Amino acid sequence: MNNQYIIATFGSHSALQILKGAHDESFKTLVIALKKHVSFYQRFPFIDEIVSVDAFLEFPKIEKKLKDKKIIVIPHGSFVAYLGMEGNKKMTLPYFGNKKVLDFEFDRVKQGDWLKKSGINTPKEYKNINDVKFPVIIKSFGAAGGKGYFLVNNQKDLTEKIKFFKNRKFVIQKYIIGVPLYIHYFYSPLTKKLEILSMDRRYETNVDALGRIPFSVDPSYVVVGNSPLVLRESMLPEAYSMGEKVVKKSRELISKQGLFGPFCLETIIAPDQKFYVIEISARIVAGTNLFIEGSPYADLLYNEPMSTGRRIAREIKIAIKENKLQEVLD
Ligand code: AMP
Ligand code: AMP
Repeated sequence: MNNQYIIATFGSHSALQILKGAHDESFKTLVIALKKHVSFYQRFPFIDEIVSVDAFLEFPKIEKKLKDKKIIVIPHGSFVAYLGMEGNKKMTLPYFGNKKVLDFEFDRVKQGDWLKKSGINTPKEYKNINDVKFPVIIKSFGAAGGKGYFLVNNQKDLTEKIKFFKNRKFVIQKYIIGVPLYIHYFYSPLTKKLEILSMDRRYETNVDALGRIPFSVDPSYVVVGNSPLVLRESMLPEAYSMGEKVVKKSRELISKQGLFGPFCLETIIAPDQKFYVIEISARIVAGTNLFIEGSPYADLLYNEPMSTGRRIAREIKIAIKENKLQEVLD
């Protein structure tokens, strides 16, 4: 039973996938859930223990109570949304992943620098508003799920919309008209191999509904869900190559250990079939929830259903067996 290690996470985002994957790899599982969601998580037989909280911000208190158990925490999208970057860094329980990557993920300038230095294609960014070639998108720092973004098509609108940001930080990016494709990778520090486990196309309100109306309105980019998509096979080698480049650069730029585990390159594919990478998420993304039973891409690599959640547990299991657990924890 994997030396009785317990895989734990917050009850939201991709917790069900993570905990089912952990159970399938013979780990005990624990979910930290809001009181109002306890009965929901009780429905699932692969969850062994539920710790209830009034708010996720209570985590530091809960952490003290959990420190005598052999817990390994798996972060997902809710961790930073509810605890902030500092809250994540301060976590003392063993954490799957490299926390040093957080600084490069949440500072859009550092992130842009990482992506550009990796040698992958990114949309042009404008520092000076007089140089802007429209259309552009204005994005605040740390926006969650596409909230607080503006599409702007002329100078007057740009001046107006920027006022809205007041003291908040933002970037102005060339708006790429194309298909948003999110690629779900897993890099194993144990095998030193990169895997593409799945991919999704985002569904966003209201931008994805605008084709249904005959007049124009300002689009918004709030994510509501994800749909599956397979990529033209001729574009797959490039998808692998982009993932390898960001992993390699992270070891020079961030720390020796670099980026490992699950991550996602968020791309827009333009009509010239070029990928424009708009963002990197250095953790499990919610689009992987489509593939709890595996995906066409996971199926090419594994002869069993391999979700990203299960792949994380598999990595921890191998690390325990090879006595290398410290290499995958922070
Ligand atoms: P929730 O669990 O819905 O409270 O979401 C926690 C965080 O994850 C928020 O920042 C959401 O915007 C983000 N999130 C949740 N679901 C998705 C999704 N399907 N795609 C992208 N981000 C998501
Ligand atoms: P992000 O928070 O960077 O993942 O972006 C959320 C959504 O905003 C994406 O899924 C796109 O629909 C849209 N978006 C962000 N940046 C761009 C861009 N440079 N060009 C076109 N659409 C974008």
